[in-house]
Parts: sequence; structure tokens; C-alpha cells
Amino acid sequence: MGYVFTPPEQVSLPVRGSADLFPVHRIYCVGRNYAAHAVEMGHDPDKEPPFFFQKNPDNIVLQGADFPYPSASEDVHHEIELTVALKSGGDDISIDKALDHVFGYGVSLDMTRRDLQGEMKKLGRPWEVGKAFEYSAPHSELVRADETGHPDSGAVWLKINGEMRQEGDINQLIWKVPEVISILSGLFTLRAGDIIMTGTPAGVGPVHRGDELHGHVEGVGELTVSVV
Ligand code: MN
Repeated sequence: MGYVFTPPEQVSLPVRGSADLFPVHRIYCVGRNYAAHAVEMGHDPDKEPPFFFQKNPDNIVLQGADFPYPSASEDVHHEIELTVALKSGGDDISIDKALDHVFGYGVSLDMTRRDLQGEMKKLGRPWEVGKAFEYSAPHSELVRADETGHPDSGAVWLKINGEMRQEGDINQLIWKVPEVISILSGLFTLRAGDIIMTGTPAGVGPVHRGDELHGHVEGVGELTVSVV
């Protein structure tokens, strides 16, 4: 038996300081995980249970590549985020065991067609058209946790054309990385290769063709993307 057509290539992320590739299984994203961003989006900053959505692995754009402005939107926003990459998984992972499953960390952009997401929110419909479109997940190389440790503080920022637009700190995450892994593993069977985009600090806003985006997570890395 053979495939009826050639299966798609495995999506992967480079690993800093090696020729190794991290094969990506799923992309989970956390919504509204910084209080100041929840407020700017018109929500209560109190600790409500986290909620999740997904992007597709093949939405990834690697560090230094172009982000083609997508179809069907006139209000595409940047969301700079810390990514957690898992080397193992399971169900119902406890908070104190959660970090044992982490391979490493990266810097990502949760690019969002805000106008389409807004319409879906209003209608109570799913967010995919706003979140899971082509090239919607620009991503840096990963750094291994056994080299960097597990960051629980450190600056997160995004500049556009050299101008600061988003600024926060990992210590402002409402739901911390071990809690996110634990809760997510109660909803889905987590697996090696899953990556989790942990949410964005305040300051989200539109991008335009010609913009140079430069993201940074202290102790983790940099991400540069050109909007074309
Ligand atoms: Mn996001």
C-alpha cells in the first residue's frame, strides 16, 4: 500500500547551537494571559480560567523569513509571545512535574487577523479564520532548557521599524508555564513536538507591508520578520 499522494514534509524548528531539528506536532496557544493585554482587549484582568486555541504546524514561518500580508483582512495584528516546546507529554500532568516535559523555549508571533477574529467573537463562532491562517506563526530557533533553565522572569518586547510597540515581562504571565502545561494536559493528550504559545503582553496593534518586526524574549532569543 502506498500513499495516494506524497505526504507533506514534517514541519520543524531549528535548535540553537546544533544541526538538530525539533519536529513540530501541534501548536497550542493561550488566550489573554497577561492582565494588561486582557484589559486592552476589553476584558476583566482577574484570574479567569485559561482558554486555548490552536494554529496549524504548517503556519510556521522561520526566523528571518517574510510574513506575506494575508488575504481577507485589513487589520492584521502582532502578538509577541514566549513559546514552550515539549519533549514528552501525557494526560493530567501535575504542576510539579510539568517542567520535566519541556525541551526548550522560543520566541514567536501569534499573527492575528483582528477584524475577522472580532467578527467571530461577536457571533460566538470559532477563531480559526482570525488565528490559524497561512504564515500566521513566525518562530525563532529553540533554545534547550538544559542550557538556559526555565525562565520565570525576563523582558518580552516587540519593536516595529526600531520603535517599541509591546513590552512586558514573563513574570506577568497570569497562568505560569507549569500551570498551562498541567491544565492543557487535562484537555488534550500532550505529545513530544507540541509547542505552546503562552500569550502576549499589552501593546498589540496593526502591521503594514514593509514593516520590520523585531521580537525579543530575554534569555531565550530574538525573532525578526519582514511584512511583505
Ligand atoms: Mn496570542
